[in-house]
Amino acid sequence: MELFDLSGRVAVVTGGNGGIGLGMAEGLAVAGARILVVGRDREKNATAVRRLRELGPDAQALAADLTEDGAADDVAAASEAAFGGLDILVNNAGSTVRGMPQDLSVDDWRWVMETNLTSAFRCSQAAYPLMRRAGGGKVINIGSMFSLFGAPYSAAYAASKGGIVQLTKVLATAWAADGIQVNAVLPGWIETELTRQAREEVPGLYERQLARMPAGRWGTPQDHAGIAVFLASRASDYVTGVSIPVDGGFSISG
Ligand code: NDP
Repeated sequence: MELFDLSGRVAVVTGGNGGIGLGMAEGLAVAGARILVVGRDREKNATAVRRLRELGPDAQALAADLTEDGAADDVAAASEAAFGGLDILVNNAGSTVRGMPQDLSVDDWRWVMETNLTSAFRCSQAAYPLMRRAGGGKVINIGSMFSLFGAPYSAAYAASKGGIVQLTKVLATAWAADGIQVNAVLPGWIETELTRQAREEVPGLYERQLARMPAGRWGTPQDHAGIAVFLASRASDYVTGVSIPVDGGFSISG
């Protein structure tokens, strides 16, 4: 459908070589976008590029660590060099360090903030001139249920994901006049590499969270393809600054 057609659009997906990022990238590719995947692991990048080329017009990868100075500028430059611009930015790269707040080191705090929040800020800054030049664009930030809730072991992660919601509102207000919409997606509990360790190490976690899910199952990366296409397409041109849970009802379940 034309409203959701992304033909001719260029999308950068940070952390697009696996998990939720790849699920979103697959949706964008099917809708017609060319994709630049950003991740540290070259092998995962190459596998993702092969997959995305099967689904859409073209894909390339940039191996980069987004916690490093200059990485965001490299991302924008790589998108420009590969595809001539940048229309859609998915700030999805993320990680966590679990631990009670009294035990969490400041180094771990900084690393989680850099990975989850500062990288989104920097990539958005770097993308802005290219989107402005194109007459508009779409930024999709990835939050979490920890954008909404607290948990004892998630001080840095929850602070970074709460920050994502506020950064989304700020960028949305700042760049609306440029035709750039900025929204956030808040995934629920999704079966990916990120939650694998927690699922394996925290007894009962899987079942406990499952019991609170009206949908009756954990989410998958592919559950994020549709929201990515919606927020990246003309269909969402009057939607900006909002954070949308993709959680099977987890956040509204009592
Ligand atoms: P994965 O661990 O499967 O994917 C994380 C992605 O981020 C990988 O592609 C990884 O690639 C990339 N990445 C991590 N750190 C960096 C870095 N410093 N520089 C560049 N790329 C990086 O996790 P998920 O798919 O689960 O998570 C994706 C996003 O969704 C995260 O922001 C996460 O917080 C969020 N989320 C996940 C939930 C879940 O239940 N799984 C729930 C709520 C939110 P590489 O290792 O190659 O660098």
